Amino acid sequence: MEKLILTVGITGSRITRQQTPHIPITPQEIAQSGIEAWRAGASILHVHVRDPKTGLGTPELSIFKEVVDQIRKETDAVLCLTTSGIPGRNLPISDRLQPLFLHPEMVSFDAGSINMGTNVFLNPVEFLDTLAKETSAKGIKPELEVFEVGMVYTCIRYLEKGLLKPPLHFQFVLGTPNGMPATLKSLLYLSEIIPQGSTWSVIGIGTGQLPMAMVAMTMGGHVRVGLEDNIYYSKGVLARSNAQLVERVVRIAKEFEREIATPQETRKILNLS
Ligand code: ZN
Repeated sequence: MEKLILTVGITGSRITRQQTPHIPITPQEIAQSGIEAWRAGASILHVHVRDPKTGLGTPELSIFKEVVDQIRKETDAVLCLTTSGIPGRNLPISDRLQPLFLHPEMVSFDAGSINMGTNVFLNPVEFLDTLAKETSAKGIKPELEVFEVGMVYTCIRYLEKGLLKPPLHFQFVLGTPNGMPATLKSLLYLSEIIPQGSTWSVIGIGTGQLPMAMVAMTMGGHVRVGLEDNIYYSKGVLARSNAQLVERVVRIAKEFEREIATPQETRKILNLS
C-alpha cells in the first residue's frame, strides 16, 4: 500500500480559547504547533491564521507570512494554506486569495457552498473559477475539500473543462452538521466516484476523527487530524496539542504496517510541482 500522508489542520478559524486552552492563536503559537506536529510525523501542514486581537480567523497576508516564514525556516513540511477566508463570513474573493502570494505548494479549494450554523459558507462559481485559474497559473495544487457528494461532481466538471489538472487530490470533510456524515458508507461512496488516478484523504469532524482515520488507513487513503477538526483526545478529554493527535495516528499506522510518507515522499505521491 502507498505510504500514508498525514495532514494536520493546525487551528482553523473558529475554535476559541473558551472551547479549549490548547488552540494556537498567535502567529508564534500557530507556527510552533505546526512545527511540533511535523516533528511528530505530519507531512502537510494546513494553515489558517488568527487575528491576535480578536482570536478569530483572518486573511491578513502579513500574519500568514509570519507563520509561513517560521515554518519554512524550521521544517521541510508541505504547506497547504487555506483559501476559505472565514467560513460563513464570506470575505471578498481577493481577500481569500491572499495566501497564494506566498507560493505554497497547496491551497484548499472548497468545492461548493454549504450551510454553516445560521450562515452559508459561500463558494460560488466565480470564486471557484478564479481559484482554479490562479492555482493552475501559479503551479499550486488545489486540495479539493468535499463536504457532500455533489462537490465531487463539481470537481469532475472543472477537470473536464481543463480548469483543474489531473491527478486530483480530494479531502473529504465528513461529519459537519450539514454535510455527509462521518461513516464508512460516505467514505466508500466518495472514494469510488472520484476520477481514476486521484488521491484522497479524509477529515472526520469531532468524534469522527479517529474512526475515519482508521478506515482511511486500511483503505489506502490518507488522513488529516488536528485541532481545527477535533479538540478532544478522548471522550471529555481535551487534546493537549496537534502533535498529540498526530502521534496517535503515527503509532497506529505503525501497527498497521502502513508507513508514514515524509514531506519529500508526499510531494511525489501528490505530484506537486
Ligand atoms: Zn481549514
